[in-house]
Order: sequence, then C-alpha cells, then structure tokens
Amino acid sequence: MRYSSYLELSKSALKNNFEYIRNMLGNTCQLSHVVKGNAYGHGIDTYVPMACEFGANHFSTFDAIEAEEVHDITNGEVTVLIMGMIGNDELDWAIENDIEFFVFDLDRVNAAIVSAKKQGKKARIHVELETGMNRTGFDLENLPALIRLLKKESDSLELKGICTHYAGAESYANLYRVNEQYDRFNKAITDFEQQGVKAQKLHTACSAAAIRLPHTQMDMARIGILQYGFWPSTETYIQTIKPGRNQLSDPLKRVLSWKSQVMNVKKVSQGEYIGYGNSYLAAHDMEVATVPVGYSHGFSRSLSNQGRALVRGVRVPVVGTVNMNMMLVDVSQVANIEIGDEVVLIGKQDELSISVSSFSDFSDQLNYELLTRLPHDIPRYIVK
Ligand SMILES: *Cc1c(COP(=O)(O)O)cnc(C)c1O
Repeated sequence: MRYSSYLELSKSALKNNFEYIRNMLGNTCQLSHVVKGNAYGHGIDTYVPMACEFGANHFSTFDAIEAEEVHDITNGEVTVLIMGMIGNDELDWAIENDIEFFVFDLDRVNAAIVSAKKQGKKARIHVELETGMNRTGFDLENLPALIRLLKKESDSLELKGICTHYAGAESYANLYRVNEQYDRFNKAITDFEQQGVKAQKLHTACSAAAIRLPHTQMDMARIGILQYGFWPSTETYIQTIKPGRNQLSDPLKRVLSWKSQVMNVKKVSQGEYIGYGNSYLAAHDMEVATVPVGYSHGFSRSLSNQGRALVRGVRVPVVGTVNMNMMLVDVSQVANIEIGDEVVLIGKQDELSISVSSFSDFSDQLNYELLTRLPHDIPRYIVK
C-alpha cells in the first residue's frame, strides 16, 4: 500500500538542536523533552527512540495515553511526566509504572494517596501552582491544606517537583504578566520551604521562557518546539539572533520534512477555471500537477491559491482551492515534469526550502498548530 505523503526526520538536525538547547540550559538544568501532540506531529514512535539515541531521558506528555506510548517504546527506561490529563482510574497504572504526573487539585492528590497505599508504592507527583495563567494549577489559598497533606502522607507521595506554566512567554507583550507569575511562584516556594516541604525539582520554563528569561530555567525546563527546530514566535527568533547578540544565523535546524509526489499532470488552456468553482482562472496556457495531499492531511484549506511546494528544484504555487485529499500546483515553469516526481511541502529540495513558519504565516496557523495537525498515520522515516 502506498501512502500519499510521508515525513522525514533528520538525525543531524536533532543532534544540532539538542546541543544548542543543552548549551543554553547549562549543567544544572534538566531537559525534559515535551512530546505532546504526537511529538508535535513528528510521531512519538519515531521521535522518542531517536531522541533517546542523543541522550534524552526525560519526556513530558499531555495525557496518560501519550505517556503509555513513551513508556512502552522505551521499555520504561526513561522518566515520563504527564503535564495534563490523567483520570483517577489511570493512577494505579501510573504509580505502578513510576509515571510522574502533575496534580492541581486536592481530589487528585487524595486519589493518588489511595492508589499509592494500595500498591505500597509512592506516587511521584509534581504540584502545579496557579500563578496567573488561570488554566490548571493549585490556587494559592489552598496551599496550607496541601502542605499539611504532603507532610502527613510523605510515605505515599514523593514530591518530584513544584511547577507552573507561563501564559505566553513568547511575546514581550506578556512580560509583565509572566514576571508576576514568576514572583508568585517564588513566593509560594518560600511558603513550602518555611513549612519544611522541599520538592526535588522546581520547573517553570517552556522554550520561550528558557531562552528569553534564563532565570526561569531553575532545575528543569520543559522544552517542546525548540527541539524540533522551530521558534516559539518570530519575536523570539529575532531577539535571539539580533546582531551583537549570540549569533547571526538560525542556530536551529528543522527536523521534519513533509514530502509527496506528483499524481497527475494536465495541460489547461487559457481561459479555463482550475479545480472547484472559479477561484483560479488560467490567464495563459498552463500545466498543472495534482498532489495527493489536502486539508484532511493537515494542508490547510486557507493555503488555497497561497501555498507553495517544491518540484524539480522549482518553487511552485498552489492553484485553486485545496481539496480534502488533493491540491493542484502550477508546474508550467517546471521542465520535464513526470508523474512520481517528488513534491516537497515542508523542507528542502536542491537549493530551495519551504519552512513551516513561512507556510503558517500564509495560513494564519502557528508552527505548533500546523505541526500537530500532520497526520498520525503516514510513514515517518529517519534520515541522516
Ligand atoms: C506545551 C508545554 C510546554 C512546552 O512548550 P514549548 O513552547 O513547545 O516549549 C511546557 N510546559 C507545558 C505545561 C506545556 O503544556
């Protein structure tokens, strides 16, 4: 069976990015590799073993299903941390397998204690504090009750971490809010410590915070987007490469390429419409190629008449609307086009490249969103 498109993951790019991130974090800050959203579309099964080859040993997921995937594929040899959804009925499994998880309410803590006692094993928890994001996190007024419980149940609970998450560290417009979160977090940590409760690790930073606000790195940083070679925002990128600062060119390399092939080639006469409706009128005699990738595969419909692809080393525009499973590109300028020719949707071909970010500017999608919408079920190959 042939898939209509596939992804390639570059080992050398990954190695480069890990080196950059480790250098940024220094020796005292643990790197947790965030692999939620199917490793930002890179595919947990392909990405995690490759990351382990380059020394990764701590992974953060959104939910228990992803945690189970990481745990299974690594034979339980790495630390797995669930940052979001775990049901109380999944706690037995998590505790039994040393899976760590965020707790943000007393109900979950109590359920973890019950499960831990039942198994005669400690639950490895990270207390998430509400510092201003207003999403998940213990409200600070509940801390006295939590601290009492942590002390009383220290045989059942191992306080692996205390953490929080910033509400938009990728933009300086949020700096005031992020700074307030940082201050509230530190104040709460003082309260914990005054009560004699100390966590093994304090962690607050995502990619943007770690890179722009190094004081947020603490004992561990939860790094997602950077490891895949993308910037949390253009602002973060510009600030990092600003002349006179660290460097002048992009220190990250994209890990992922997305490729398909020409499925059909057709000549279209001047004056004909192309594809559904009347969104594209051939202004001259043209040659168009069909590519078997559409919005159902994550190639946004908003790239209709906007997107670009690479064929035989030429940058070609998408013409007409992106369909569910197909799109058309104008290959009038491509010599000797043939069915089966490689089509690059993201990545490099000869001297040219298409980055996810150029692409997501077109379609108003952030890097994050475009990546995580890449199909789960297409092949992912590791390349040099
Ligand atoms: C997604 C996420 C991260 C990683 O964010 P990046 O911007 O991709 O580095 C860190 N912490 C939490 C709680 C997250 O949800």
